[in-house]
Amino acid sequence: MSSEKGLRRWNAVLVLVGLAALFYWIGRKPAPAPEEETAPVVTPGTIVREPPKELPPDQEMALPKPVEPNPPPRVVEKPLLEFSLPTDNQSIFASQPEQFFMFVDRYTPAGQIQVWEGGSYGFVRNPRETAQGKVFTKFHEGIDIAPAVRDAKGEPQDQVRAIADGVVAYVTMSSRTSNYGNYVVMLHQIGTTGVFYSLYAHLKSTSAVAGQTVGRGSTLGMLGYTGSGIDRRRAHLHLEIGLVLSERFDQYNAKSKGLANPHGNYHGSNLIGLNAADFLAANHAEPLLMPDQFLRQQEVYYKVLVPNRGQELELGQRYPWLRQGGPAAASWEISFTGPGVPIAIAPSAYTASFATVSWVKPFGGYHSWNTRSMLGGSGNTATLTAEGNRMLTLTAGDF
Ligand SMILES: [Zn+2]
Repeated sequence: MSSEKGLRRWNAVLVLVGLAALFYWIGRKPAPAPEEETAPVVTPGTIVREPPKELPPDQEMALPKPVEPNPPPRVVEKPLLEFSLPTDNQSIFASQPEQFFMFVDRYTPAGQIQVWEGGSYGFVRNPRETAQGKVFTKFHEGIDIAPAVRDAKGEPQDQVRAIADGVVAYVTMSSRTSNYGNYVVMLHQIGTTGVFYSLYAHLKSTSAVAGQTVGRGSTLGMLGYTGSGIDRRRAHLHLEIGLVLSERFDQYNAKSKGLANPHGNYHGSNLIGLNAADFLAANHAEPLLMPDQFLRQQEVYYKVLVPNRGQELELGQRYPWLRQGGPAAASWEISFTGPGVPIAIAPSAYTASFATVSWVKPFGGYHSWNTRSMLGGSGNTATLTAEGNRMLTLTAGDF
């Protein structure tokens, strides 16, 4: 019994010693032990050095980390231009397109329905049944953003703001001179990729002044329903982002149709829009993505050869990323998306004395459906229509 008691006492002593050792280790951690916080006395000129301590491996993290003499600077790439949505309606970023886009009315045998897709970009309007399935023959060049706020009467209350830093290039309150109603055009210089436009249409009012430099998010006006085919119920902001086809639009207009044009270079026919909602969503996910990169990812629907008049195309000089391939040759081959956005200009050895379709994406129906009637024909053959020829004249600057 007594030896058993002795053993128990030994055990107790060992436990105590163990605990003491444990407390000692804990005490050595810098934070919780106040008695270790007493600072050593420092007199000027004294270099205080901690005596070297041997620490168990799990305590080594408590030691101050050695300071690297020159930590390499972190390279943070900045976007050439920052973009944001023009109103408080941000639902496109939450994948709620039905909240984001203003619907269009569609008349069906079953009655009138409201279709949000009609407010998005592309061939989204005037469906018709064909042997190739349902075809949307009417193109929408911008996106229609529904109001986020309305007052008790249903009057929209949304402010419209600049999507990016830029210059107000054009403001018109003569709402009857275009389908846009009251509209503002901004120009945005994006590094060396060129000057892109943004257009804000159907405004109720605007405070923007042409020539003004404005920052992203600056108020341009109030969302409204001016222009044709729009009422308070369908009040929205029509937003476009895209390329300015020519800087000599008035000259072209005088030579081609000769119609009065009060809008100068900011006439709708001189502005070719990309898919603004897809671009802004892609840029939101990847802020370094600029419109030129976005456009280069788009599918080519047709290519047209235009004569080389002995100089680079103006469009390629203003948007250098469009220009591909080697030195100039007999002609220029311009690649277009279905809606007619130029996305490449390359030299070609083929001679073209006038604008000629050199390639088209094979399609079972009429190419006019997919090209805003710029092309005639079907299958793998296509020709430029009168409208297509006018557009090519403007795009190639051949006037
Ligand atoms: Zn619209």
